[in-house]
Amino acid sequence: MKKMIFLLLLLASQAVQAQKTYIFCGKLIDGISNTIQKQVTIIVDSGKIAGIEKGYIDPGVAGRVIDLKSKTVLPGLIDCHVHLEDILSSNTLMEVFTLSDADIAYRSVNFAKRTLLAGFTTVRDLGGTGVNISMKKAVENGWIDGPRIFTAGKIISSSGGASDPSNGFRDDVFSHRPGPGDGVADGKDELIKAVRLQIKSGADIIKIASTGGVFELGDNNKRAKFTIEEIKTVVEIARDYGLKVACHAHGAEGIRRAVIGGVASIEHGTYMDDEDIKLMKQYGTWYVPTIIAGKAVADSARKGYYPPIIASKGIAFGEQIQKTFAKAYKEGVKIAFGTDAGAFDHGKNYLEFQYMVEAGMPEMEAIKSATSNAAILLGKENDLGSVSKGKFADIIAVDGDPLTDIKVMKNVVFVMKAGKVFVN
Ligand SMILES: [Zn+2]
Repeated sequence: MKKMIFLLLLLASQAVQAQKTYIFCGKLIDGISNTIQKQVTIIVDSGKIAGIEKGYIDPGVAGRVIDLKSKTVLPGLIDCHVHLEDILSSNTLMEVFTLSDADIAYRSVNFAKRTLLAGFTTVRDLGGTGVNISMKKAVENGWIDGPRIFTAGKIISSSGGASDPSNGFRDDVFSHRPGPGDGVADGKDELIKAVRLQIKSGADIIKIASTGGVFELGDNNKRAKFTIEEIKTVVEIARDYGLKVACHAHGAEGIRRAVIGGVASIEHGTYMDDEDIKLMKQYGTWYVPTIIAGKAVADSARKGYYPPIIASKGIAFGEQIQKTFAKAYKEGVKIAFGTDAGAFDHGKNYLEFQYMVEAGMPEMEAIKSATSNAAILLGKENDLGSVSKGKFADIIAVDGDPLTDIKVMKNVVFVMKAGKVFVN
C-alpha cells in the first residue's frame, strides 16, 4: 500500500513537472539589457523561469504554449509606492470615522486585483491601517487575486506628523491619543517601540514621514518632523530585522535629515534642493517620485475636494513634482518607479511612465525603474525584476512597442505571476 502511494505521488510530481510553459515572445525587454530581443521562447517551470532560448522552441507533447509573437513581453512591473487600502475622494477625510477595517478590506480586494491586471505583479504598500498586512496574507494564500505585496503596515510619524490620524481634530474625538502602536512616536524609546510593533504585526518595510504631508489638517508639508537622531534610531532598529526604511518627505530639510539618517528611499521628494541631490547621490539613496500622485491630488484639489489648507498644499505638490523628477534624473539620482496609487484610481499606475518620459527619462530607463531597479530597492533582485533564468515567472505583455510609444504600457494583454496566468 505504502509503495503504491509513493508511486502515485511520484507520477503526480512528474505530471506537474511535465507541465512546462513555453512563452513565444515576438519582442522581449528583459528588464536588464538595453537591447530588445526578437523571437525568443521563455520556458516556465514550477513558477520560475527555467530558461530563455532563441527562436520558438518545440514544446513537445506535454508543454503548454502561450503565443505572444505579436506582442512585446516584459518582466512583471513593480510599483514601489502604493496604498492598496485607499482611494481618494471628496469623502477621504471622513473615512477615519466612517470605515471599519472590514469595510476597508472588502473595498481593497478590487484595488489589488486591478493593480495586478494592469501588469503590476509586485508592489510596496507604503502605509495603511494594518489591513494591508492582512491583504498580503490573503494574496499569498490565494484568497484574493493581487500583486505580490511588500507592506509597511502603518506609517510612523511624530505627533502632529504626516500620519498622525488626530491632526486637526479635537483630542476627545478619538478614544485615545495616538501612540507608537498607531504609528505616532516621538523620541528614541517610542520610535523603537513603534518600529518593533510594526515588524511584529508583519511589516516587510518600515515607512516613516520626516516631513508633514499634504492630507492632514493644520500641517505644513515643508517642515521637518523628525530629528536626524530619531531617523537613525528607526533605521538601526529596522536593520536589526533586515528591513529597509522608506521615507515620505516633501521639504528639503526633512529630505536631508532622512538621507543622513540612512533611509533607503525618499518618497515624493517634492521640494528637494541641490544639497539633497548631492547627498542622495553620495549616500546612494533611491528616489521614488510619484509624479502622478501630485497631478491627481492637484486636480482633485481644484475640484474642491478639500478644505483650503489641504487644497493649497495639493496644488503646489502637483505643480512642482514633475520638475523635481526631471532635475533629479538629470543630476543622476537613482530612480525607482512609484505612483502613490490610491491618490488616483488603482490600475492607472502606467500613467507614471508617461510623466517620466515627458520629463526627459528615456523609455528603457523608465521601464527599468519599474523592473530591475525597483527590485534592487526592494532587496529582491535575485528573485524579481527581470526575465532571467531562476527568477519568478512574473511576465507581462503589451500591444505595441513601449520604446517608441510609452503610452502602450496601458495596453497590458498578458499577465503571469509566479507562473500563474491572470490575463491572456
Ligand atoms: Zn503614499
